[in-house]
Amino acid sequence: MKLAVIAHDGKKAEMVAFLNKHINFFNSIGVEIVATGTTGKHAQAAGLEVERLLSGPLGGDAQIASMIAEKEISMVLFFRDPLGKHPHEPDVQMLMRLCDVHNIPIATNPAAAELLVLGFMDLHHKTETVHKD
Ligand code: PGA
Repeated sequence: MKLAVIAHDGKKAEMVAFLNKHINFFNSIGVEIVATGTTGKHAQAAGLEVERLLSGPLGGDAQIASMIAEKEISMVLFFRDPLGKHPHEPDVQMLMRLCDVHNIPIATNPAAAELLVLGFMDLHHKTETVHKD
């Protein structure tokens, strides 16, 4: 499965910390991470393996939105900075709308992301148990 991650500038450090915290789980079940350009650069600098798309303002969010529409993305973590202005706000709206259209879980802050990943872990463990039985 593919996890898409995006973080506005004020939230990039929190995103990297979040990914570091959960990377062992993601790796253990083969989750691939795809990121907008600068978010991905920060993650790579921290030693994480991620696929980088264009930077958000240059179309990275739109690329992820397109992957959501093509059903290539299973979950989105988008740490938004509600205090900043963003030139690509229309792309952000499109991405969030397409998550709703295709019923793709999206977390827009670390607390929601934590719950989403916990839910995902739980689901994964239940599936594992069913397969073992
Ligand atoms: P970035 O884009 O990772 O290239 O900074 C994030 C965003 O959409 O603002």
